[in-house]
Amino acid sequence: MEGRQEELYWLGITEAITLLRRGEVKPSELLEACLQRIRALDGRIRAFVTVTEEYALSRLEEINRDGGGLLWGIPLAIKDNICTRGVRTTCSSKILEGFVPPYESTVTERLLKEGYILVGKTNMDEFAMGSSTENSGFFTTANPWSLDRVPGGSSGGSAAAVASGMVPGALGSDTGGSIRQPAAFCGVVGLKPTYGRVSRFGLVAFASSLDQIGPITRSVKDAALLLEVISGHDPMDSTSVELTVPSYTNALDRDIKGLKVGIPKEYFIEGLDPQVERPVRDAIDVIRDLGAEVKEINLPHTPYAVATYYIIATSEASSNLARYDGVKYGLRVPSSGLLQMYMETRAKGFGQEVKRRIMLGTFALSAGYYEAYYRKAQQVRTLIKTDFEEAFNRVDVILTPTTPTAAFRIGEKIEDPLQMYLNDIFTIPVNLAGIPAISVPCGFTPEGLPVGLQIIGRAFDEETVLRVAYQYEQKTGWHLRRPPL
Ligand code: GLN
Repeated sequence: MEGRQEELYWLGITEAITLLRRGEVKPSELLEACLQRIRALDGRIRAFVTVTEEYALSRLEEINRDGGGLLWGIPLAIKDNICTRGVRTTCSSKILEGFVPPYESTVTERLLKEGYILVGKTNMDEFAMGSSTENSGFFTTANPWSLDRVPGGSSGGSAAAVASGMVPGALGSDTGGSIRQPAAFCGVVGLKPTYGRVSRFGLVAFASSLDQIGPITRSVKDAALLLEVISGHDPMDSTSVELTVPSYTNALDRDIKGLKVGIPKEYFIEGLDPQVERPVRDAIDVIRDLGAEVKEINLPHTPYAVATYYIIATSEASSNLARYDGVKYGLRVPSSGLLQMYMETRAKGFGQEVKRRIMLGTFALSAGYYEAYYRKAQQVRTLIKTDFEEAFNRVDVILTPTTPTAAFRIGEKIEDPLQMYLNDIFTIPVNLAGIPAISVPCGFTPEGLPVGLQIIGRAFDEETVLRVAYQYEQKTGWHLRRPPL
């Protein structure tokens, strides 16, 4: 079959599974199609920190020998803060540039068990701190829809790789929006699961009470499938919950007639770009036409979410990042004396944004300020969580824009951290409340940049979130558009 490889790389995970099982496509053909696509495009997109071609080829032999598994022969990319045994895991930080984990994260262990093939580790903002991948210690990733724009972040490499057809799916991590925001910017699907749904074992910690791993794919069904594989209790992560994992793929087909949908006033504010608001409003109309009952709701503490997040996330980060001292992991800058070695290693190994956050967090936790900042932030966090609980007494899901603007230009916000922080204004409250949310493509700006619709659900009710997303996607088909590469 000539010309086939060019099309193989646009196969979704679900479609590829069917063709692989029927023997119509070989795992080697699918893998080669992805690797060729990476060779052709990644010089311009720069989605990957490491392409694991050799590793993938040896893995191919393994899966051909062993057979079986839900994801047998499916090539995927993994964000570079998720540990892969024997494969360099850098968090896009100079301090971990040479770090090769001696163990496998639980999520990738589960993917391995189902027969997936790792093709590479994706670029990100250093330690997942950022919204554009510009904070990567190595290089910035480009948005496949417009190469002079950011792909979002921090999982920008994963989103760009999926959007440009280099892989059919990827994993990202989301602490304040890092799966959903890049998914929205790149016109793909991104799901942040409920806190505790997916094991964080082997995810390099940024803010442990907020971090969660989730899928980035080109369709809702593929996201449901990956979630099904990576979810579930893990004895290695005491915050992972002992609840049975439903079949997310089986939950998609039922219609959404009579479902109650809330639209929070606080998310349609000044600062929301009308070019983003328009497609989101249209999406709400589509969901109403599908039989849902749409009503306005209030989430009154929303205006405090960004400030609260930047106290809690930086506090946890300052503590989590204390381990990078030149002794235990990665980089060491030799110097005279231990303290000097610590200081020089951290000065050289960490980038500007990471240092800024360590300083902010250390300040917020220090004696005398703890009550005023950290404790206060925890109290406000509870209020934000309560807002959602009260809203979910009245509605089943909440719809909002994923981001206030479409993808911005590379360099546009990097000098102004506050502007950058505000880009996550609609995604952050969800992490503070620990609940699940998905971003699905819902249209384009007049310039042709993708726009994302966020669907937020009750804790551990990913099924309803995915079902609304799927019904919407089937009705509209925005996810079928491809970037002009
Ligand atoms: N952009 C947010 C931050 O910089 C969220 C990052 C994330 O979700 N990892 O912290």
